[in-house]
Amino acid sequence: MMPPAFEYMAPTDVDEAIDLLNRYGDDAKILAGGQSLLPLLKSRITSIPYLISLSEVKDISYITDGKNSLKIGAMTLDADLEYSPTVRKNFPILSDALGQLADPLVRNMGTVGGNLSHGDPSNDLPSVMLALDATFKIRGKSGEREVHSRDFYMDTFVTALEHGEILTEISVPYWPAASGGAYVKFRKGTWNFSVAGVAVQLQLDNEIVKKAGIAITSMGPTALKASEAENYLKGKKLTAENVRHAAELVVAASQPSSDSYGSVEYKKEILRRISVQAIKKAQTRAEVK
Ligand SMILES: Cc1cc2nc3c(=O)[nH]c(=O)nc-3n(C[C@H](O)[C@H](O)[C@H](O)COP(=O)(O)OP(=O)(O)OC[C@H]3O[C@@H](n4cnc5c(N)ncnc54)[C@H](O)[C@@H]3O)c2cc1C
Repeated sequence: MMPPAFEYMAPTDVDEAIDLLNRYGDDAKILAGGQSLLPLLKSRITSIPYLISLSEVKDISYITDGKNSLKIGAMTLDADLEYSPTVRKNFPILSDALGQLADPLVRNMGTVGGNLSHGDPSNDLPSVMLALDATFKIRGKSGEREVHSRDFYMDTFVTALEHGEILTEISVPYWPAASGGAYVKFRKGTWNFSVAGVAVQLQLDNEIVKKAGIAITSMGPTALKASEAENYLKGKKLTAENVRHAAELVVAASQPSSDSYGSVEYKKEILRRISVQAIKKAQTRAEVK
């Protein structure tokens, strides 16, 4: 189906895009890779009279090694992040998620900022950013602010972004040596989105967990942080019993609803199993560092 008519604008810098957003108010929206917004327009679920494309804003597409964190420009393509050597080396949890995100066609068009800004609880990158403790840089008419990923997701398709604001950069802190992470996603058939996904990042010290970051995908109104599981693992060895108990706490943090993917109990059982897998995989990666 064709989308409803819209006016397309392609400013060349972020401030110009912010001016346009403010000029057209609720009638305007940012267009990044279009991989979520265009299907919504084509299915006529929504109509947006003014689309402000960021495709010509060249200075928010980068992957830079900062002093304490990896800086990712919001317009960085998913595929560029997937193949970045620094991501492969330092953040295998991100490589896991990106390699399973949709298909190469979508990853060649979709952007990291779009995936995070859309607020879809089934998108894979929000839970990874929650597990890694990432922060988001947001720019609006009154200047720039930083929001921690844990404060960004408010409800389904509702984020801390206010109208007229643009997500410009994602900052992912480097975890100390002896850290490792993994993202495990369970899908049904050929459908891309997960029944459940879980992101686990661990820092170990002599086999003891010093810090844990755990978050879940597709199991509630937003990506959810499993804080009790994180706190439980802190100071403990990853014995089979402790891993099993942590997985139970991940399940307790979830808020699934029954739908065409399966019942609540089915989804919880999937999450239980993939949580154990993700913790073990993160442990192995932390140990080989
Ligand atoms: C067939 C298919 C399968 C998919 N499977 C998956 C999957 O398995 N996992 C997954 O995670 N995703 C999946 N997606 C979604 C995909 O990852 C999208 O690319 C992503 O959700 C949105 O990124 P985008 O750059 O295309 O943003 P757009 O579609 O252009 O924008 C999405 C929303 O975010 C807003 N926005 C975008 N960028 C910014 C910004 N910088 N600042 C403020 N607001 C902004 C837009 O206004 C819009 O509301 C799939 C998509 C398709 C079409």
